Amino acid sequence: MSGLPPPQLVDDLVLANHILSNEGVLDAFGHVSARHPTADRFLISRTRAPELVEAGDLQLLDLKGARVSGNEQRSYEEVAIHAAVYRNRPDVGAVVHSHAPSVIPFGVTGVPLRPIYHMGSVIGHEITVWDIATLFGETDLLVRDATQADSLVAALGPRTVVLMRGHGCVVAGADLRAAVFAAVYLEHGFEPIAPAIVAAFNGRIEFALNNQVDHKTELQEQLARSGRSVSYTLLNAEGPPHDRTFTSAAVIDGEEAGVGRGPSKKDAEQNAAREALARLGPAGGVRAAR
Ligand SMILES: [Zn+2]
Repeated sequence: MSGLPPPQLVDDLVLANHILSNEGVLDAFGHVSARHPTADRFLISRTRAPELVEAGDLQLLDLKGARVSGNEQRSYEEVAIHAAVYRNRPDVGAVVHSHAPSVIPFGVTGVPLRPIYHMGSVIGHEITVWDIATLFGETDLLVRDATQADSLVAALGPRTVVLMRGHGCVVAGADLRAAVFAAVYLEHGFEPIAPAIVAAFNGRIEFALNNQVDHKTELQEQLARSGRSVSYTLLNAEGPPHDRTFTSAAVIDGEEAGVGRGPSKKDAEQNAAREALARLGPAGGVRAAR
């Protein structure tokens, strides 16, 4: 390959592929790249599972992600991510893009991902989440072009890690060692810590399980957005005094929107509200009013 990067970089990149695969950070997908030390180029494998990558698989791409030399087979579909990081971050010498499973929940739940022990500090204190849908609408979530990749790198900012909603993450390091180190410690530690987190939050989980959701309040709030209200009518009460069953209707705009039964009037109304909410759908009264 012409304009060859130093042999040490080639060796290190092959090794980085194997380490990241061995550590479970990269599976059959995901990729790692390294910046050429003297040219506006970066080195990355052709499309191949990282576990199998050899020196002969590497190709040199320009900062638009176009192949300049090296292996002539197909490039990874998401080389635009790497190109954009090198274009926008002169301080970065290596990039890992992974779909590491343990980071996925932090990209979709709104729970911030934070380092909680010293080896994890390399991932950075603040980790942002980039959602491709914000600017580009509904896609298959893959980042294929420069505009999308630039937007992703803008969310990365000067940091080491950015999460991608429903997809994975990008880790940027000063060199291969730093990027691999951060990518490994981003992934590691979640499994042993998960039971401790569940135990710590157990009280709140129990609370959520044992406390009835207030359907009446939810329905009232939904209707209020379209200037409407709900009233409840008792339709029936039957059975002996110690074992009564009440039936109530939630009435919206003079029509029965839901009917519910329960051992008390309050329970029957809650169930009627729940049925009304289900009928109104996720947009609730707002959609129904249009
Ligand atoms: Zn990806």
